[in-house]
Amino acid sequence: MRTSIATVSLSGALTEKLTAAARAGFDGVEVFENDLLASPLAPEEIRARCADLGLSIDLYQPMRDIEAVPQDEFQRNLRRAEHKFRLMERLGADTVLVCSSVSPLAVDDDALAAFHLRRLAELADGFGIRVAYEALAWGRHVSTYDHAWRIVEAADHPALGTCLDSFHILARSSDPKDVEGIADIPGEKIFFLQLADAPLMAMDVLQWSRHYRCFPGQGGFDIAGLVRQVIKAGYQGPLSLEVFNDVFRQAEAGPTAVDAQRSLLVLQESVGLTAPPAPVVPTGIAFAELVSPDVEPVSELLEALGFARTARHRGKPVDLWQQGEARVLLNTGPGARRDGTQLAAVGLESPDPAGAARRAESLLAPVLPRRRTPEDVPLDAVAAPDGTELFFCATGRPGLPDWTRDFEPVGQPAPADGGIRRIDHLALTQPWHQFDEAALFHRSVLGLGALESVDVADPYGLLRSRAVTNADGSVRIALGVGPAPSADDGDRAQHIALATDDLVAAARRFRAAGGRLLTIPANYYDDLAAKYEFEEGELETYRELGILYDRDADGAFRHCYTETIGRVFFELVQRDAGYRGYGAQNAPVRLAAQHVRRPVR
Ligand code: MG
Ligand code: MG
Repeated sequence: MRTSIATVSLSGALTEKLTAAARAGFDGVEVFENDLLASPLAPEEIRARCADLGLSIDLYQPMRDIEAVPQDEFQRNLRRAEHKFRLMERLGADTVLVCSSVSPLAVDDDALAAFHLRRLAELADGFGIRVAYEALAWGRHVSTYDHAWRIVEAADHPALGTCLDSFHILARSSDPKDVEGIADIPGEKIFFLQLADAPLMAMDVLQWSRHYRCFPGQGGFDIAGLVRQVIKAGYQGPLSLEVFNDVFRQAEAGPTAVDAQRSLLVLQESVGLTAPPAPVVPTGIAFAELVSPDVEPVSELLEALGFARTARHRGKPVDLWQQGEARVLLNTGPGARRDGTQLAAVGLESPDPAGAARRAESLLAPVLPRRRTPEDVPLDAVAAPDGTELFFCATGRPGLPDWTRDFEPVGQPAPADGGIRRIDHLALTQPWHQFDEAALFHRSVLGLGALESVDVADPYGLLRSRAVTNADGSVRIALGVGPAPSADDGDRAQHIALATDDLVAAARRFRAAGGRLLTIPANYYDDLAAKYEFEEGELETYRELGILYDRDADGAFRHCYTETIGRVFFELVQRDAGYRGYGAQNAPVRLAAQHVRRPVR
């Protein structure tokens, strides 16, 4: 289906919004009146700009408080409407959105509303314009889609139809039965379909709508279920996004538009309209790649953790550090940032690396060059929204490009063994405006499942975190957004959590090797003693080592943290098989402890 986006969904001047929408592949736009009023361009110039960009103007919006008002007020409304229709002629827009009235003057009289809308449609028809009547969830007398449709039906004019808005419909009822009536509306009378998702919240519906709308798949509404009914009705118009969101208003328009387009690609797939390459779910973490301006501090830390430097890249200053199935690449090449060490790339084990890349590309993920230098093994890789490079790997699998062939063993592997088996999870802090985008990306592009979002108190703000994972937990990525002490990327912490079967032993070995663990306040352990029963001496050991403890119905989770280098720190975790979390309830204590210790660059 054609795709469209309301200009109000994107930040910037009107021309920036139009450019972003066109670049992201939208076929059309809804021009939001305020964007036009604030533009220095004449309507004809906006029309020409859209034509140059290959965008149609699918809707002009909104007109408000038109119907079921006293006669003299309605006459004024018609004069106002005529002015808008002339403007729309210049703009080249043929459909106008009319929202159900919120005016205190409006009366509860469907017959009068139908009469007024018919008069408005007659006037519009003279300009070749169609009127799409939409029920606002907070409309004074008309607040449901079926009520709006009954009035449109009664008005019975070919230039009058209805506009369905998923937010207004689903904010009032999430019962699938309540949207089934949509399929009974004649498709040609559904003049427009606006789509927005939203997180499920108990709050005033107008505030919810104006501030928290998000793109389909980012919230809690069953948008696909609604779209199926609209398709069943025979709707032929575009899928159009109308998203009022405080974050998107501030974020750069270009990436937001791509995110928006991706949400519609995923939506169309989920209702069976398209069949892009299927997701290839990763089956493990092949490696985590750190880039660092200085090899020393990270090497020391890895050594203390029991990693051995086993191989070096044939053409670049990249070392492979390994322990069990945990592999860390340490890259001190030109990509290293002056402001410190960061986790720049992740290798994901993939049953079909090329297929995974095709899926990613079909969902607008930027594809990276297959070879970083001419000698490299050709690897499929894409960039995640936060810029993290994701490599689709086939470690040690014959017949497929194997990244380890780029590496040459360096003498004897060190005897160290810190008891680390594998990477348990990665935690990637996202730019503040990309939290929802990141979750949708990892779910749709990589086929990972998303857990509920959790809020964690940081001494200087709130951290939101949402984990994405595959079915057996061999790939776990915790996506977060945190309070930003500054806009500097350097403050966005990342961590690599390493799995061990014996955390106490691993922590002791790390300390004996000169490693320093994050110190946790005594108050935490006093509280822990009140919460859980421990074996003799167990709690004292945790206190001594700075081990944090959590438990759910299925098992326990023990974890501790190294100091931070640049943006990166390590976590050691011992996870009982059934435990599915990440120790979120301990995160406030950990975050506070990390603020006490200033990171080493
Ligand atoms: Mg709307
Ligand atoms: Mg963690």
